[in-house]
Amino acid sequence: DYEVVIDTTLEDGALTYGELYIPGDSSDEILLSAHICHPSLANDNLSGICIATVLAEWLQKQPRRRFSYRFLFAPATIGAITWLAQNHSTLDRVKHGLILSLLGDAGHSTYKRSRQGTARIDQVAEHVLTSSGDAFEVRDFVPYGYDERQFCSPGINLAMGCLMRTPDGEFPEYHTSGDNLDFIKPASLADSFEKCLRIVKIFENDDVLLNQRPFCEPRLGKHGLYESLPQDTNVQNFQHAVQWVLNLSDGQHSLFDIAMRSKLDFSIICKAARELSRCGLVISQDKRNTV
Ligand SMILES: [Zn+2]
Repeated sequence: DYEVVIDTTLEDGALTYGELYIPGDSSDEILLSAHICHPSLANDNLSGICIATVLAEWLQKQPRRRFSYRFLFAPATIGAITWLAQNHSTLDRVKHGLILSLLGDAGHSTYKRSRQGTARIDQVAEHVLTSSGDAFEVRDFVPYGYDERQFCSPGINLAMGCLMRTPDGEFPEYHTSGDNLDFIKPASLADSFEKCLRIVKIFENDDVLLNQRPFCEPRLGKHGLYESLPQDTNVQNFQHAVQWVLNLSDGQHSLFDIAMRSKLDFSIICKAARELSRCGLVISQDKRNTV
């Protein structure tokens, strides 16, 4: 038996949140949000704070970025509501986003889709989890959980999903003193970070290319496309990727669109695009050089 005494007063105070903005070539933003209201719990949500911090460090080290990134460290619910109220007039700059929580337990990755359901962030996160070869789960949006309740409320409706491992309330240590440093695993944290990074790299490396020889198939043999391929390349996948990139580089499809349509991994589509661009068969529509 125990007794709980809650001694409170109601008075004006202040709400503190942390925000980090990392500018890129475009003012279009990717918003990454972690809740900070009970940092004594390791998985919920010190793990999210850690992953966001390491990701911000990685992004800052890049010589340039295609997107701008905004990291938000705020108390759950009230912090997100406050930030959204203060930034309402500029929310259209947020193109994609992720809520980062529960990223350190031994369970597999879970991605919860945005309210929109088929936003680019939903497609990219699912592509990364599918191509990882690891067990994972993708869930549809429901209006409970973390700050997606605010970011995906009807008047806001940002394209933000939630990346986690075992979802809230689905492990016995949730919201107890058992959610401590022994409960989270370094390997799980590293894996969660790797998946976040792969999501970011897809956004950074996606591009729309233009086929420079669009009138039937160019003869590929003379371009030495296959000579500089790394040893570990699956040659048949690479050949298919080359044909897909040539076929869909009509100014209407990005490399990620091509990966989805071909069901090939984004990395092999990029590899094919790099080789084709090296021999002048495709050029970037806006001549960007990305990360
Ligand atoms: Zn919590």
